Amino acid sequence: MQTEVRKEKTVLIIDDSPINIEYLAQVLKSEYHIKVANSGESGIEAARNQQPDLILLDIVMQNMDGYEVCRHLKASDGTRKIPIIFITTKNEIEDETRGLELGAVDYITKPFRTPIVRARVRTHIQLKHNSDLLEKLALIDALTNLPNRRRFEQILKREWARCRRSQEPISIIILDIDHFKQFNDHYGHLAGDRCLSRVAQALPIPLKRPADSIFRYGGEEFIAVLPETEHSVALNLAEKMRVQVAKLLIPHARGISTHPYISISLGVTTNTPNSRSTPRTLVQLADKMLYAAKNAGRNCVRGKIFSNETSFQTNPESV
Ligand code: GH3
Ligand code: MG
Ligand code: MG
Repeated sequence: MQTEVRKEKTVLIIDDSPINIEYLAQVLKSEYHIKVANSGESGIEAARNQQPDLILLDIVMQNMDGYEVCRHLKASDGTRKIPIIFITTKNEIEDETRGLELGAVDYITKPFRTPIVRARVRTHIQLKHNSDLLEKLALIDALTNLPNRRRFEQILKREWARCRRSQEPISIIILDIDHFKQFNDHYGHLAGDRCLSRVAQALPIPLKRPADSIFRYGGEEFIAVLPETEHSVALNLAEKMRVQVAKLLIPHARGISTHPYISISLGVTTNTPNSRSTPRTLVQLADKMLYAAKNAGRNCVRGKIFSNETSFQTNPESV
């Protein structure tokens, strides 16, 4: 790992001995940001708030010992993934086993040897960096660089729950490129890929709020999540997305006869989450609206508010 990357990493030292803290901070501060906590309780708090990349955790502390701290950190979603290295006195073999069983990744024994401290910390910072990167890559679509469907599922669940608590509306836009099979057949798959990338770059342009997000849902379908967004606003954003794509003027000889360029159809739905709706029903209704847009001739937007009374038998043509 490059020194500059390491410099961005944070190590949290949890130890009730000022001498140990002083030593470890001195040894590591040229390579990492250092945070310190001098008790188990404040250590847990700091881990939660600061989200360090690694924790050095003393076992023997007054009040809450290192094992207890480790158990807390591993039991909480917000801190579970932070690697923990225990600091222990030499030859406490039985203790080492216990710590590893609790989920610690390694040990550093006292009296400290500086090269060992540096090497162990470096190794585990590197491993954490790699696993963070893999996790991130697993949520990104390689062709368009947009977050993928897996990420969408996570975000929709989170935002839906947030809007349910605050009783705010949440809107969803599903969109699909028109006659894209024909495009691939006519211009070739590589041109199809290039087209998808360009569309993916154009789509987020109208989305201005930080909580708005857009994902590649699959194939030539994309989906946007718009928390705290009224239906009329979402319809407006969908129309702006349609215009952004139309403005790319990507020729499509076999597209819609009235518009010989790449176009998209969009379905929009809005719901203030309640006991009758779920993230899934919201997506299903947006999908119905997308089909309504396709049936209406493509290159257009169709939408419907998902209310308590919404029935899935609704004929999309009537929207
Ligand atoms: P409609 O207007 O009804 O949406 O028609 P369509 O042709 O767009 O829909 P259909 O579902 O029949 O075809 C989708 C096409 O999208 C088929 C597939 O070859 C293409 N496609 C999906 N993913 C990719 C991709 O990653 N790259 C390329 N080049 N094409 C893709
Ligand atoms: Mg299509
Ligand atoms: Mg499709």
